[in-house]
Amino acid sequence: MFFRRAREDRALREAQRAGYALLLQLQATQAWRDFPEPTSPAPAPAVEGSAVRDLLPPQLRVPSRQEVAGLMMRWEQPLVVDGEIRTCPGCGAYRDWIVFCMRDDSIWLRCRAGHETKEPGLDAASYNRNSGPVNRFHRTLEEGLRHLGH
Ligand SMILES: [Zn+2]
Repeated sequence: MFFRRAREDRALREAQRAGYALLLQLQATQAWRDFPEPTSPAPAPAVEGSAVRDLLPPQLRVPSRQEVAGLMMRWEQPLVVDGEIRTCPGCGAYRDWIVFCMRDDSIWLRCRAGHETKEPGLDAASYNRNSGPVNRFHRTLEEGLRHLGH
């Protein structure tokens, strides 16, 4: 059990590293149109950072985006990216995916059989447009997969 989890953690870290390179590339070649620069003045320093965090006891505080390894959702219908239905290179599955949005904004697909594939045709903005609000936090990847029925 321990080794299995360590292996999956390593796979996620590798996923993050690979995705980070892609993200840098994207930023270098195109504007990040889904995330416009904030135009309103920054809030007063008193409400930023640790001051706000300390107002709530740790068990009530929602982890920030930077404190989680990634987001995940189940996608049961066929997934169409750029007009093409995605199929798993490992087993040919084309539906019932778990879609991951990693901390580095890379997107990964995991089929029912557990094959994981990076999906360069999707990004964090498209993930956010198609996912519901974050409603649960899992301590491990396995826990999250179980919760989503995989
Ligand atoms: Zn597969």
